[in-house]
Amino acid sequence: MKVFKDSETGMQIINEIDKLKTVLMDYRKTGKRIGLVPTMGYFHEGHLSLIDAIRGKVDIVVVSLFVNPTQFGPAEDLDRYPRDFKRDERLARERGADIIFYPGVKEMYPEPFFTYVVTDQLSEVLCGKSRPVHFRGVTTIVAKLFNIVQPDVAVFGRKDAQQLIIIQRMVNDLNFPVEVIVAPIVREPDGLAMSSRNVYLSEDERKQAPIIYAALQKAFETVQNGETNAEKIKQLIRQKIESAELARIEYIELIAERDLQPVDRVEPGSFVAVAVLFGKTRLIDNLAFFN
Ligand code: AMP
Repeated sequence: MKVFKDSETGMQIINEIDKLKTVLMDYRKTGKRIGLVPTMGYFHEGHLSLIDAIRGKVDIVVVSLFVNPTQFGPAEDLDRYPRDFKRDERLARERGADIIFYPGVKEMYPEPFFTYVVTDQLSEVLCGKSRPVHFRGVTTIVAKLFNIVQPDVAVFGRKDAQQLIIIQRMVNDLNFPVEVIVAPIVREPDGLAMSSRNVYLSEDERKQAPIIYAALQKAFETVQNGETNAEKIKQLIRQKIESAELARIEYIELIAERDLQPVDRVEPGSFVAVAVLFGKTRLIDNLAFFN
C-alpha cells in the first residue's frame, strides 16, 4: 500500500481505493466535509481554480487524477494524452489540495467490468455525435468516484458545459448525495479557453485558436444589442471562425441548458456551444448569454 505524506503540507498521494476510503472515513468520523475535484491531470490554471472554488466549502479537498480510458473512442488520443504527474503533484500541493487520488487503470477497471452509467439523449448531442462513447465513460467514472470518495461537494468547470449538465442530470436522476458546484472558464490572456489539449496545437494553430472566443464575444455583443435570432447568431460566429484559415468547425449550436436541444431564440438558460478542429486538435468552448 503506497501512501506518501508530504512533511510540510500533509498532502497525501493515494493510489488504492481501499486506502482512500479508510483515510476519508477517519476524516468523516471527526465531522470533516469532503470535496472532490475530478481531473485527468496535466494541470493548468483551469484545474487549479477548481481547488480554489471548493476550498471554502469543505475541510478536505481530494483531487482525483485519472486519464479515464472509457471516455476515449478507439481512434482518439488516449495514448498521447499529456501526462506529468510530478508537476501535477507539485501544483496541487502548492494550491492546497489535501489528497491526490491517483489510481491505475486496473484499480479503477478491474477485469471483468460490465457496468456503465448512461445519461440518455443528453450524451448523444453536440460532442456526443462525434464522440459516441465519451459521455458514457465520463458518467461511469464520475459515478465511481462519487461512490469511492462520497464527497459532500464536487466541482466541475463550465468549460465542459455538456459534461457539467450531464453530471448534474445524473446526480439528480440517480439521487447522488452530493452538491455539484460550477467554476467559470479560465482563459489564456488572448481568450483561448485553457485545456490540457492546447499543447497539441502547432505554433500557427495556437495563433489562430483565440478566434473561437473572439467569435463568441462578438455574438455576445450582438445579443446585448438586441439580437435574439439563433440562426443569425450562429451565422455570425461561423463567419468569424471561418476567417481563421486553419479552423474547421464541427458544430455551432444555441441550446437550452435544460435538455441541450437547439432553441430558435436566445432565452434565459440558453448558451452557445462550439467545437472547432485545428488540425487533429478538437477545441470546445461555450458562452452563456444570461447567468
Ligand atoms: P479534465 O482534466 O480536462 O478532465 O478537466 C477536469 C476538470 O477541469 C473539469 O471539470 C473541467 O471542466 C475543468 N476545466 C478544464 N479546463 C478548464 C478551464 N479552462 N476553466 C475551468 N475549468 C476547466
